[in-house]
Amino acid sequence: AACTPTPTPASETSAPSKESSPEVYRRSQPMMGTRFEIQVVSADADRAGRAIDAAFAEIDRVESLISEWRPTSEISEVNRLGAARPVAVGPELFEVVRRGLELSAQTQGAFDITFAACGHLWSVGDEQIPTDEQIADCLPRIDHSAVTVDEDERTIALGNEHSQLGLGGIGKGYGVDRAARVLEARGIEDFVVDGGGDLRVKGRRIDRPWSVGVIHPRAPRELLGTVSISEGALVTSGDYERYFELDGTRYHHIIDPATGRPANRSVAVTVIAADATRADALATGLFVMGPREGIALAERLDDVEAMIVDPDLSIHKSSGFAHFFRPAASPVTPAPGGL
Ligand code: ADP
Ligand code: MG
Repeated sequence: AACTPTPTPASETSAPSKESSPEVYRRSQPMMGTRFEIQVVSADADRAGRAIDAAFAEIDRVESLISEWRPTSEISEVNRLGAARPVAVGPELFEVVRRGLELSAQTQGAFDITFAACGHLWSVGDEQIPTDEQIADCLPRIDHSAVTVDEDERTIALGNEHSQLGLGGIGKGYGVDRAARVLEARGIEDFVVDGGGDLRVKGRRIDRPWSVGVIHPRAPRELLGTVSISEGALVTSGDYERYFELDGTRYHHIIDPATGRPANRSVAVTVIAADATRADALATGLFVMGPREGIALAERLDDVEAMIVDPDLSIHKSSGFAHFFRPAASPVTPAPGGL
């Protein structure tokens, strides 16, 4: 598909030559259960279009590797066989799982790549609440510390015969990181890759920094403020994107591994970190931890800043967050397109 440059002031569009002034090219596509949008700055429309095509193709490739819903994916094989014996996997899945385990440990299991044993009971599409018995049954199957990886053999073993890996809390971030690598390899120096709120940013938007709106979790047409970064990842997790309500309670897709039920200490978390894989997992983990423990963890990790909105809609920030964040003076309505 063709790229449409966002309109630039008339004074900036001049020479019809191929190497004219830089423009922003933007395209979006549904992928990984969300809408991905890529923006790149380039003076060459063809080059921009090819780079975006390659980045989308990369996300597609990552999805087939890590989706536990696809029976032929490597991760499905680990889930099928990994309780009985170590399963050999490719270097990428190995790396995602290894990092997922590291982040599970760092968040003391608030983010847990074996959350799926309980997570799958809360399929938001079904609008069904699991029974207490089902919850009691799934809880001991959440067990990231039983999973082992062998660097030399490049194998993964589940350790617990009833555990399952689920990469829904980290895989999108990994896809975003891979797409960013593809753009960089093609010489694109200024871009935003947005996987439905998981962003990787580099450079500038021609004449100004990229600026990303952080949505108000209870008024999604308004912004809490904007974040500007010139390199790195920005990931927001909230309870407002995928949820259902029953008898006045909101049931959403972020599961507290301690209770087997939707986490209730936060309504939205925004994490800034060097890469989106890490930011994605941490956003989920900090959401489960809530403001007190979550901000304390962000302070301990030196490359991480975080903002957590609690159920009373109070806002908690790590000490360096304000450096990147401009609060909305009064709640403002985002411009169409967001960025
Ligand atoms: P989104 O996919 O909306 O961006 P998140 O990044 O917050 O949301 O990730 C939520 C997803 O992470 C869920 O859909 C599920 O697949 C997975 N998940 C939910 N709870 C946990 C948890 N405690 N640990 C790890 N992954 C989780
Ligand atoms: Mg996440």
